[in-house]
Amino acid sequence: MPLSPEQQAEIDALRSAPKPTLRAVSEGMEAHLYNAIPVLDHGFVRVIDYMGDDAAICQAARVSYGKGTKSVSNDEGLIRYLMRHWHSTPFEMCEVKLHVKLPVFVARQWIRHRTANVNEYSARYSILDREFYIPEPDALAAQSTVNNQGRGAVLEGEEAARVLEILKSDCNRAYDNYETMISDEGQQGLARELARMNLPANIYTQWYWKVDLHNLFHFLRLRADAHAQYEIRVYADAICKVVADWVPAAYSAFEDYRMGGATLSGKALDCLRRMLKGEEVTQETSGMSKGEWREFIGVVG
Ligand SMILES: Cc1cc2nc3c(=O)[nH]c(=O)nc-3n(C[C@H](O)[C@H](O)[C@H](O)COP(=O)(O)OP(=O)(O)OC[C@H]3O[C@@H](n4cnc5c(N)ncnc54)[C@H](O)[C@@H]3O)c2cc1C
Repeated sequence: MPLSPEQQAEIDALRSAPKPTLRAVSEGMEAHLYNAIPVLDHGFVRVIDYMGDDAAICQAARVSYGKGTKSVSNDEGLIRYLMRHWHSTPFEMCEVKLHVKLPVFVARQWIRHRTANVNEYSARYSILDREFYIPEPDALAAQSTVNNQGRGAVLEGEEAARVLEILKSDCNRAYDNYETMISDEGQQGLARELARMNLPANIYTQWYWKVDLHNLFHFLRLRADAHAQYEIRVYADAICKVVADWVPAAYSAFEDYRMGGATLSGKALDCLRRMLKGEEVTQETSGMSKGEWREFIGVVG
């Protein structure tokens, strides 16, 4: 279970005491504030705080004295223009602070995104909970035979059962030993900072993660993508829904230009122009490598 009744009560208390403010407020984001969105078996994402909205992006772009808003359609057009032309700093004017609970091996991929501020739960100070990520049957798959960095067919029957049993028993044995080592009953007890070292990478950790909208879009483009590992993608997908409610115009532009769009090389553009003129272009006549050609055909269908 992602949240204990005490934790849920703290969230409910925060949500039941709204305060008036002169700051920009996004109605969509207010609905998410503090609430935990469950992800994987024990994880979650929740919004702790945010700054700005769609209008704040336009306000910054126009360096305005007031709201900077001309009209909704005008603002949407400006946001699309900024996204299309890779203007980054107006999007950096919006920020979000998330509380994320995630398996350590997912945190290890996530932390590679350096343009955020992070504060992680201290396993030197606190005792970790007995919470491990165990994949659902449909996420328990074999090594891919076509992509070294991916998974293939879902494991079934006895093999799935055997793998699940290994995963579960290893976690529990490691956690039993962790508890035994830190115990100070009848012994000195090993320091928490040392006892944690043989816990498996599917144990859950937690952090506060603060990032601006420009760098969040960069994170989402990479991690909500089909090439990202499923276990980080589900977090990115959950955050995408939050961002769509927070800054609908900016998210819609991001979805269109970044998630739905594609970048073409000079050679690829040349091929496309030749194809549009009716020429039959093949990989051999394209000037592209086999891999580039495959990806190009993937983009243009
Ligand atoms: C599908 C996938 C597979 C991956 N596989 C691997 C792998 O096998 N091994 C591996 O090690 N990593 C891997 N990564 C991680 C990847 O290489 C990046 O480290 C990660 O995605 C963070 O991207 P970033 O550096 O652009 O993001 P951020 O750290 O958020 O940086 C955002 C941008 O800021 C700029 N920037 C930030 N810091 C600096 C700096 N110090 N100097 C210059 N510019 C900077 C860059 O323009 C950068 O793109 C993988 C990522 C993905 C999505």
